[in-house]
Amino acid sequence: MRDESLDPTSWPEFRSLAHRVLEDLLDFQQHVRDRPVWQPVPASIDARFQSEAPVDGVGIERAYEDFREQVLPYATGNIHPRFWGWVAGTGTPSGMLAEMMSGGLNAIVGNFNDGASRVEGQVLRWMKSVFGFPEEASGILTSGGSVANLVGLAVARDVFQERPGTRKRDGAAPRLVLYASSEVHSSVFKAAKLLGLGVDAVRLVPVDRHHRIRMSQLEGILQRDRARGFQPFAIVGNAGTVNTGATDDLNALADLAAREGLWLHVDGAFGAMAALSPETRSQVAGLDRADSLAFDFHKWMYVPYEAGCVLIRDREGYVSTFSVSAPYLENLPRGVGAHADPANRRGPELSRGFKALKVWLHIREHGLAKLGRLVAQNVAQARHLAELVDRSCTLERLGPAPLNIVCFRYAPAGAPDVVVNQLNREILMRLQERGIAVPSSTVMEGKFAIRVAITNHRTRHDDLDLLVNQVEAIGAELGAVEATYRTGATARGLKARLA
Ligand SMILES: *Cc1c(COP(=O)(O)O)cnc(C)c1O
Repeated sequence: MRDESLDPTSWPEFRSLAHRVLEDLLDFQQHVRDRPVWQPVPASIDARFQSEAPVDGVGIERAYEDFREQVLPYATGNIHPRFWGWVAGTGTPSGMLAEMMSGGLNAIVGNFNDGASRVEGQVLRWMKSVFGFPEEASGILTSGGSVANLVGLAVARDVFQERPGTRKRDGAAPRLVLYASSEVHSSVFKAAKLLGLGVDAVRLVPVDRHHRIRMSQLEGILQRDRARGFQPFAIVGNAGTVNTGATDDLNALADLAAREGLWLHVDGAFGAMAALSPETRSQVAGLDRADSLAFDFHKWMYVPYEAGCVLIRDREGYVSTFSVSAPYLENLPRGVGAHADPANRRGPELSRGFKALKVWLHIREHGLAKLGRLVAQNVAQARHLAELVDRSCTLERLGPAPLNIVCFRYAPAGAPDVVVNQLNREILMRLQERGIAVPSSTVMEGKFAIRVAITNHRTRHDDLDLLVNQVEAIGAELGAVEATYRTGATARGLKARLA
């Protein structure tokens, strides 16, 4: 009886395929600028995804060919220099190698006494130092900012509930609530849901004209909630909001949190990286006063997906949130399982991949100074775009652009918002469909905005010149719009033209 395994039946053949894969993917990275940013998946390709799971395998060569035909040409596009949608990271060629290395090791960075867990430990120490957290603080690498927010708020909730003074009224615990500005990211609502607090537990506070939380209103809402018997336990501060890149007054939030006995969690998914550059660091002043800080490596540190992180100041409270003992997971004093601070006591997961390797290699290859220069470069590019928009006769900037995000629209004089919204939706879709550029969108005070978020180390200033020219050109192409308005054409007329 011959035993089977999943190793190649012919290593020489496998090696030659492996080299081909590497060459193909290097080409894909090197020549990204020559390709359209994005293209839709044609129906003929779509149909091929409908086939059933094969009972007998086709072999890696054939499966790889399918990848080349069905997947590679229809990439999201986020490695392209003109991808500025949502807050998407680009990754790097070295990051691709790092993913291969961690795949080769197939390390489980959880419970074990190995090199991989030391790499993660070192990355966490580096990040504590970058963000001004004390050495005794703890943390964990996560899949992204959403899980980092969830972990931070889970600890905040548990630490609060364990506190001796926490009131329990009439047997039933009073409702826990947390505070954030109206610009807070959707993942915070998700976290509140998952923690069983409900989305209503997130009390939204209005923002000022810089899109920062209004401190006086925060205090007012907090006091009213206390008077009504709610139990405030945390404040979520923004370091870089998704809409405009605004950062709340983190020092004021830290002062208030200290006065009120609240946990300060900061969502710095991308914005925290402003701390890497002396030119932008002051924008996120007060980060170092957070009780917990969530951020992503895969956005504004350009590390490939996925890699996020949460840092937590209160190590004991943290570990008690996630410690559940199990006889099969006892950490013996010696051997593979000897780990004083295993990752499964610092987060919801047990089996985890080696995300830390790509971060570790990235920081070692480039150094913090260069990564900071790239962050500052993206901020300078956003300023360049804001200036182009402000100088244009047909474009209108929507909202402030303090960091790396610019919101704007094509705005022919005199056209009503409902029509301009429709027009800008169409401009955005055409930009994407023609593979020119990929901004995304948001709505600012009822106005549909083309939103450019630059977390892209490949972007050049002239890519933004091209964007502005193309938005103006598509706007004009959609029909001598200004003239149409001056002659009093109806919204329905333009809608017909757009259809
Ligand atoms: C992207 C983002 C998140 C969520 O992070 P993921 O890595 O996508 O899970 C949270 N907050 C802000 C401000 C973000 O930009």
